[in-house]
Amino acid sequence: MERIRRELAQVLPGRQIARLELLEERLPQRTRPEALQEVVGRRVGRLRRRGKYLLIQLEPEGLLVLHLRMSGRLLWQESGGEGPEHPHLRLRITFAEGGQLLLVDPRRFATLFWIPHGDEGQVPGLAALGPEPLSRGFTSRHLGAALAGRRAPVKAVLLDQRRLAGVGNIYADEALFRAGIRPDRRAGSLTPAEVRRLHRALRHVLRKGIELGGVTVRSYTGIDGAAGRFQETLQVYGRRGEPCRRCGETLAGMRIGGRSTVYCPRCQE
Ligand SMILES: [Zn+2]
Repeated sequence: MERIRRELAQVLPGRQIARLELLEERLPQRTRPEALQEVVGRRVGRLRRRGKYLLIQLEPEGLLVLHLRMSGRLLWQESGGEGPEHPHLRLRITFAEGGQLLLVDPRRFATLFWIPHGDEGQVPGLAALGPEPLSRGFTSRHLGAALAGRRAPVKAVLLDQRRLAGVGNIYADEALFRAGIRPDRRAGSLTPAEVRRLHRALRHVLRKGIELGGVTVRSYTGIDGAAGRFQETLQVYGRRGEPCRRCGETLAGMRIGGRSTVYCPRCQE
């Protein structure tokens, strides 16, 4: 989502919303479709991200909050570049200066909130979000505090958005491999040295993901539709049954918190 935010920040700010078309009634789970039309005529201001939420500040007032969930993606289309209608198009925002922002979502889990007054604290999931692992102030001590005393598998805690914001399944698997920690270890059992390793690994894979454009494994692509290169660097995610790139052992799989998990039985303890 950070990658998407950066890309949109290059094209959206200053543009005025001319039209908003909702092609999927289920999309705005907490916003009435009629109320959404209030965004027309407003201009895009600053773009922010919190966890996996994209926050689009509108001027003079109002906030659009978008969460892509499992399969949603955003596409930017300069005017004149309109191709054939996408089969899973859910939302189209057309700008007065030209250009369209499209939300494509085959599984229809993406959510959109319109907050005419006030801030994102009104979005339930957003208000309860934990700290950002990539923020300057997030130290290994903060990570240690999130894990301490918890009996849940360390991976489940990493994925818990109330503990840490924005860590997805892929990043959790890759960070645990990099840190040499089995995903099913009790979170509270990590030694201080392991917490420091995990902290470094987590920040490394999250940064890499942003740098290389995320992954297309779960249908994420950059806003211009370009595939991410991050997946070429994946060590374990999606590689169950294949040899470990480090030691050659066959990578094993399990389910943690309902999510598929891949790890190396030899490199991770
Ligand atoms: Zn290995």
